[in-house]
Amino acid sequence: MELVVATTNKGKLQEISRLLADTGILVKGLENIAGLPEIVEDGDTFEANAQKKALTVARHCGCLTLADDSGLVVKALQGEPGVYSARYAGPQATDSDNNRKLLAAMTGLPREQREAAFHCAMALCDPSGDCRVFEGRLNGLILEAPQGSGGFGYDPLFLVPEYGKALAELPLEIKNRISHRGEALRKTLGYLQQR
Ligand code: IMP
Repeated sequence: MELVVATTNKGKLQEISRLLADTGILVKGLENIAGLPEIVEDGDTFEANAQKKALTVARHCGCLTLADDSGLVVKALQGEPGVYSARYAGPQATDSDNNRKLLAAMTGLPREQREAAFHCAMALCDPSGDCRVFEGRLNGLILEAPQGSGGFGYDPLFLVPEYGKALAELPLEIKNRISHRGEALRKTLGYLQQR
């Protein structure tokens, strides 16, 4: 089975490809799909954005398509950066810009106010418009300074309490086993196997 993974985020693509490695599913990236329309992520929820991305690509190329929309939800920041995680520090923001802004917003907050969670909505759509969305979540705490060099995005600032380490310090195998994306993708695979 061939599956288009609708993301240009290298970190996500690497994680999803590794998770699908032994399933017999052939992963295709967006680079081989010509004339793709611009997709504006203007939904209020991870679910709406994931579905919009997957459905647009599925209809455009006539392929079964998977899209992930994900982000960091921080309790003390009333859920920010949430669906704006990729562009928290502005439309062209890099991961470092976003991490700096997050640290600044949380300056001085004690450990008990540093709770956060990564959320992932994984949408699987076919060209006829049939879509399913599966979700995953990982709870943790926001560190006071970055740790580690693995992963992407907010991984250096996200402490996984059960390991006492930042996500950026954990090998990809462990991140995929515990992460929001791993959970959502395992649910998606369960559905695909039944179908
Ligand atoms: P999206 O492409 O609109 O779904 O944006 C996702 C953004 O959320 C990324 O650019 C990261 O900033 C953040 N994010 C999502 N998942 C992760 C993760 O596993 N680790 C670190 N940051 C993540």
